[in-house]
Amino acid sequence: MGLRLRQARECSRGSMTHVFHRQLKAAMPVAAKGDGPYIVDTEGKKYIDASGGAAVSCLGHSHPRVIQAIKDQVDQIAFAHTGFFTSEPAEQLADHLVSRAPGQINHVYFVSGGSEAVEASLKLARQYFLEKGEGQRSLFIARRQSYHGNTLGALSVGGNEWRRTPFAPMLIDAEHVSPCYGYRDRQPDESDEAYGLRVADELESRLKEVGPEKVIAFVAEPVVGATAGALAPVPGYFKRIREICDKNGILLILDEVMCGMGRTGTLFACEQDGVAPDLLATAKGLGAGYMPIGAMMCTSEIYDTIRNGSGFFQHGHTYMGHPTACAAALAVQRAIEEDDLLANVRTMGDKLDAALHDRLGNHANIGDIRGRGLFRGIELVADRVSKEPLDPGLKIDGLIKREAMERGLICYPGGGTIDGKQGNHVLLAPPFIINETHVAEITEKLGDSIEAALRAAGV
Ligand code: PLP
Repeated sequence: MGLRLRQARECSRGSMTHVFHRQLKAAMPVAAKGDGPYIVDTEGKKYIDASGGAAVSCLGHSHPRVIQAIKDQVDQIAFAHTGFFTSEPAEQLADHLVSRAPGQINHVYFVSGGSEAVEASLKLARQYFLEKGEGQRSLFIARRQSYHGNTLGALSVGGNEWRRTPFAPMLIDAEHVSPCYGYRDRQPDESDEAYGLRVADELESRLKEVGPEKVIAFVAEPVVGATAGALAPVPGYFKRIREICDKNGILLILDEVMCGMGRTGTLFACEQDGVAPDLLATAKGLGAGYMPIGAMMCTSEIYDTIRNGSGFFQHGHTYMGHPTACAAALAVQRAIEEDDLLANVRTMGDKLDAALHDRLGNHANIGDIRGRGLFRGIELVADRVSKEPLDPGLKIDGLIKREAMERGLICYPGGGTIDGKQGNHVLLAPPFIINETHVAEITEKLGDSIEAALRAAGV
């Protein structure tokens, strides 16, 4: 099949760092224009953006109200450093988020992306205990098969060893327990609830072994994205996790960078599990790609401890609270509410799930189709009974991506490590504005791409 993708070296004029990107390496079209759920390249080819890039573009592309908000803000003032000024969009965005946040989350700290939001959460959690005179706490417990970002602190808590190992030793101490991965780990005679308690109790056992007084926090994504393909927990898992954190005096940090801001059908993914964290990291859908922005949110207990202690959080970045980024994010969040898009996420999410099951549910190499809202994952396997992952040497994720791009589909294939082997899934995170026609287009193109990739791999 003739690929229309061009060599990155040809189109980049050589000075950009395309060669450092793992996925497409040598072949990359040039994005020219956005049009709702579509991206159009310089050759006029249209791609349906079924993953919002990496679960970013939740409003689709070229949204007029967001563009107008950015223009208006730049006309007023593009940037004012938070060391000297606050700004109206930053204040309003903070109010908007806090008034909708779960539990006692009452404060927001803006940063420029997901890794920064996680870093800020880790550091604030550490500083919280330092201010309480509990400086002996230095350990974080997170989960295998997780991704929390690529900066050194976020990498330390991330659960994929291949990402961490080359950069060891890490500045932050972290240990990893099992993720809640029912498709692979639930015993045949075990109910979802019993499984959820069993796997959550691993945290309690580990706390007993290391001593809870040495631990700062447990870190987890409510619905795991890039490393496990929209892996949602079983009912009761996070409630038990919350109980264990409280009982042992450690904090709960939820990373909603990918699954948050409406992606799963509620503004915060953890709402569906009936829990609220002490710290929450968000990004991606917050600004929907119109501007780079992330946020760390925390409870009054944490905020007040620091305010009444040293008085300031020992952290900061030049672009935090960037007025134009905040104006864009505020317009995105308002559009989601004004257009009742969370209802559409739930309706279209159910339709996408049904369509994926119809098209791929009986395929010999599809082990699981899962997710919540417009956050869906399709796990590929060599064998549906043994659930054995495909041979990593086939590099099926690269093949799926190539076939999808050829067909005008943007999806997000990836994989975490399963029992030491690379697993494979395709992640879908289309814009909240999609309709049934888009669902049909995504499903058809994805089905064709997966089948073509498996054929090309000789499976
Ligand atoms: N946390 C999660 C759950 C993510 O999925 C990501 C990015 O994919 C990050 C953190 C890091 O965000 P960023 O790439 O914006 O630094």
